[in-house]
Amino acid sequence: MIGASARLRRSLNGLAVAAETTARKMAPLPLGSSIGILGGGQLGRMIVLAAARLGYRGHVYCQDGDEPAAQVCGQVTVAEFEDESALKLFAASVDVVTFEFENVPTSPLAIMSGLAPLRPKPKVLEIAQDRLSEKGFLASIGVPTTPYASATDANSLATALDRIGRPAFVKSARWGYDGKGQVRIDTVGDANSVWATLSSWGESSSLIVESAVDFDREISVIVARGLDGETVAYDAVENLHHEGILLRTLAPAPISTTLAAKAQALAVRIVMELDLVGILAVEMFITRDGVLLVNELAPRPHNSGHWTIDACAVSQFEQLVRAVTGLALGSSERHADAVMDNLIGADVARWKELAEDPAARLHLYGKRDTRPGRKMGHVTRLHLR
Ligand code: AMP
Repeated sequence: MIGASARLRRSLNGLAVAAETTARKMAPLPLGSSIGILGGGQLGRMIVLAAARLGYRGHVYCQDGDEPAAQVCGQVTVAEFEDESALKLFAASVDVVTFEFENVPTSPLAIMSGLAPLRPKPKVLEIAQDRLSEKGFLASIGVPTTPYASATDANSLATALDRIGRPAFVKSARWGYDGKGQVRIDTVGDANSVWATLSSWGESSSLIVESAVDFDREISVIVARGLDGETVAYDAVENLHHEGILLRTLAPAPISTTLAAKAQALAVRIVMELDLVGILAVEMFITRDGVLLVNELAPRPHNSGHWTIDACAVSQFEQLVRAVTGLALGSSERHADAVMDNLIGADVARWKELAEDPAARLHLYGKRDTRPGRKMGHVTRLHLR
């Protein structure tokens, strides 16, 4: 008997075939080619490890030689993202460039283009690194989001809050992460003080005001898209947050197969509309009425996809390597259900106990300093079906 997720995969593959007919067919990068990765965090670390497994070299560009990705990578450039000559040397020495966080300033990308292909392309980054352009893009392709408005000063913030109503989330349009650069407003708030707090965040002067969604669950779908246009979606997962930071991911999400399939189809549509080569994570809310609203896009591997390392045939990191090098994508088949817990701040002190637990797949990021809210590692537990 064919299970629902296998059927869905087949129908998604059908979509993939349609895309492939119009796409380029190119030989993959030769073994030993070098993948440049902008950013040195834990996502970069896991990309480097996946690249090495497939016979590719990583070259990490980061600002500190002791960052998690730099620790496991043979080639490291330590320089600022504004250092034009370092960026040019870096791009000239690799065969393809990708990134492990979307807050890379866009000027470096212009400097590098022409020297090495950037995958995903810079246009995707531009859309994803600004919450207003991201929501505008989603609206332009008819993907539902929570109602939102923009603000560029305290007065327009007050107007936007009146229009959207409360409760609302006010967020810096750019540079926010892990719940930082945003505040929730439940009652009539002082627009002046909110403006003062957020307007200077990461040198951004635009804010987005979003109506707070009274959601049933938060889920995400990770989808890979290859150089030839093929797409592969992972199962929808449920994400549990505290103060904007992901605590736990449940794979699969405990939702109906119909809703899970809708979420996957939505993610596939978005990745195709973006013409993205690489990985896209689509974060969504499920409203109390069972409607999917897209919250955020991340055009890179995502924390809610870490479970794929231990529970899937091919992880999100390997899919990214396959996509950007022009290899065929692998299977996203889930061979076990999984629960992924982040080790945040002092949680990492449990590492010895976790290392002794035969049911725990422990992943530590090599960060020297433990700070509250800092992602230090994660642990995945599999539940064989
Ligand atoms: P974000 O940085 O946009 O992913 O927001 C971090 C977390 O804050 C989300 O995962 C939600 O738990 C919560 N959040 C953000 N925006 C909203 C919203 N408009 N409605 C309800 N919850 C939200």
